Amino acid sequence: MDHARRLSVSMSFFSTDIAIDLGTANTCVFAHGRGIVLSEPSIVAFNTLKGGVEAVGQEAHEMLGRTPGYIKAVRPLRDGVIADFDAAEKMLVYFLRKAMGRSYLKRPRLVIGVPSEITQVEKRAVRDSGFRVKASEVHLVEEPMAAAIGAGMPVTDAAGNMIIDIGGGTTDIAVISMAGSVYGRSLRVAGDAMDEAIMSYLRKTFNLYIGERTAQQIKFEIGSADPLDEPLEMVVKGRHVVEGVPATVTITDEDVRTALADPLQQIIRAVRDALERVPPELCADIYDRGIVLTGGGALLRNLDRRLRNELGLPVLVAENPLTSVVLGAGIMLGDLGLLRRVAAN
Ligand code: ADP
Ligand code: MG
Repeated sequence: MDHARRLSVSMSFFSTDIAIDLGTANTCVFAHGRGIVLSEPSIVAFNTLKGGVEAVGQEAHEMLGRTPGYIKAVRPLRDGVIADFDAAEKMLVYFLRKAMGRSYLKRPRLVIGVPSEITQVEKRAVRDSGFRVKASEVHLVEEPMAAAIGAGMPVTDAAGNMIIDIGGGTTDIAVISMAGSVYGRSLRVAGDAMDEAIMSYLRKTFNLYIGERTAQQIKFEIGSADPLDEPLEMVVKGRHVVEGVPATVTITDEDVRTALADPLQQIIRAVRDALERVPPELCADIYDRGIVLTGGGALLRNLDRRLRNELGLPVLVAENPLTSVVLGAGIMLGDLGLLRRVAAN
């Protein structure tokens, strides 16, 4: 084995650098040189009888709404802040170990995408969790910055780049120029609020009580932000609010648009507000370059068209909206210069 090859083999043995997107709905892990190695719901199920963790991630998600009372499922980051430190740490450590597998002892460098509004105390907790799994370095980056990088936006240009990341708990709106955030706002209206709006609409309009998972299913299957070319409908099963018996109704895409009117209006208002607050030159750049949408919420049908119509500027959905943040954090693993410029430590 020649010297260069031996060197590269030993380098890969030691470099198990990892990027993580700690989302309110989903956690994604990216391993340098391997790509995305894990993507699971950000959920921890605790066993309150025995104490301790019953399940994490996908497995915990499948338990939602189907478990005996002593199993309690928690979404530790639900509203974009760490609502439950203990659960957040257990989840992070679990996912890291799972993603790192046998390379777990090799002291990786970690880049962790965190919600833009987390406090210093929460940042310290996340960093400590990283060191607990034996990371050699832990770098925190704000999710909107990582999303913009992952979506391929030229964030180091001296020009306004607007990113809207619509996740589960929060919609993050940021304007980035020269690798810095010129404007940032985290609105607690996103995918979860859309699900809740669908639940409440069905309750009021059809006297039908449904759970969160069904509401999300409705959003995926027939949800939209602007009228569709082909109408869609869906048969929904739930429980009659008054009679308490199982009941079924057929709803249309228009029903869901009516249900989503309020959360969508709030998001649009926040984007308008952002456009009014950024300095005029940057605002002109945004009108030229357009807005980029990331996060699972960007997949809502015709959301881009709705924003384009309401705001009168170009709107693009990132190629992989669910993984933009982790891809951006992964890009930073391989570009230390960029990482240093954008790290939120
Ligand atoms: P987070 O970063 O907060 O973990 P994600 O970016 O993973 O959130 O997005 C999760 C949200 O996106 C959830 O609320 C989910 O319901 C929503 N979502 C995912 N796919 C779609 C879709 N096809 N249509 C509408 N919403 C979607
Ligand atoms: Mg996210």
